[in-house]
Amino acid sequence: MTTTAKPNRLTDIGPPHYEKFLPPMVKKNYSKWKYHESVAPGVLCHVGESGDRLYTVRAGSPRLLSIQTIRLFADLADRYSGGHLRFTSRNNVEFLLTDPDNIEPLKKDLVGAGFPVGGTGNSISNIVHTQGWIHCHSAATDASGIVKAVMDALCDRFTQQNMPAKLRIALACCLNMCGAVHCSDIAILGIHRLPPKVQTTNVPKVCEVPTLIASCPTGAIRPLTVDGKTSVEVVEEQCMYCANCFTVCPALPLNDAENDGLSIWVGGKVGNARSEPKFSKLAIPFIPNHPPRWPEVVDAVVNIVDVYAKHAHKYERMGEWIERIGWPKFFQLTGIEFTRYHIDDFKHAGLTYARSAHIKY
Ligand code: SF4
Ligand code: SF4
Repeated sequence: MTTTAKPNRLTDIGPPHYEKFLPPMVKKNYSKWKYHESVAPGVLCHVGESGDRLYTVRAGSPRLLSIQTIRLFADLADRYSGGHLRFTSRNNVEFLLTDPDNIEPLKKDLVGAGFPVGGTGNSISNIVHTQGWIHCHSAATDASGIVKAVMDALCDRFTQQNMPAKLRIALACCLNMCGAVHCSDIAILGIHRLPPKVQTTNVPKVCEVPTLIASCPTGAIRPLTVDGKTSVEVVEEQCMYCANCFTVCPALPLNDAENDGLSIWVGGKVGNARSEPKFSKLAIPFIPNHPPRWPEVVDAVVNIVDVYAKHAHKYERMGEWIERIGWPKFFQLTGIEFTRYHIDDFKHAGLTYARSAHIKY
């Protein structure tokens, strides 16, 4: 049996290879960068072994971009960076420039169009966030609306490098956490506080019961026979209000205008060569939803940022600062009340203790 080489398959499945879109200078210096430096707030310079210098200008973007905004960014990229731009994982837009003379005109055009330049070095980068009420079915709160209100109050911390260290804020609109809240210095997390309301007679009509039972990560759903038909019930003390069941079965809604809201968590970060990763921990258990500007959430975040900025040492991240001063002192300095909700008494709490991905030899 002979084998013949198959021609390259043409397909539209999956993204095209990223190399296709790299700016020429990045392609030329790929994996051969020597160092980078911070030129000014929002401006970085990467220097290659070849001596090439690539300038990055970073601006905040609202993440959900209108077609007008995308056209504006594309026009600015055509004018100043050879058509090249990228989006960071925290929804900043970055223009990659080879000509330093273009930095100031680009910054002027961005700021003039309402997009602040900053987010690099010891500052607050843009807030990474999730879909919110605009898109996701299990959201306990909005995403973009709160982020806009919080960043309006913290804009000078984005445009200036006046923090002890970099500070990352994240928002997820439910505890499924599409938004990296577990590893950010300050996390704003939407929470449901009641288990799903089972529409018992609808369950067998619209849902597949075995799949529904299997969807619950804590095993809180068990079968129940109603009028000779198989439905389900929820064991409340095992429910963590995650809405996974609602994802597979619309007959288990758990959105609740009175009891849904937000919590604030602090001290998370990813690991680096110096320190292990840290999970964020509960600071404020519940703040009600007050759209359109969520004033209590804005005040709470600004307060934590201000206290941290005043008391932390240079280059000390939020979690490192809290560990140095101790949690009682954190609650004292921020004026946040310590309540019974800060004690993890969930049935499966044991699984959350001492979980670190850091390997020690
Ligand atoms: Fe949906 Fe939850 Fe993700 Fe928000 S965090 S987008 S509600 S799954
Ligand atoms: Fe299970 Fe989550 Fe549904 Fe509660 S909300 S029953 S934990 S899947």
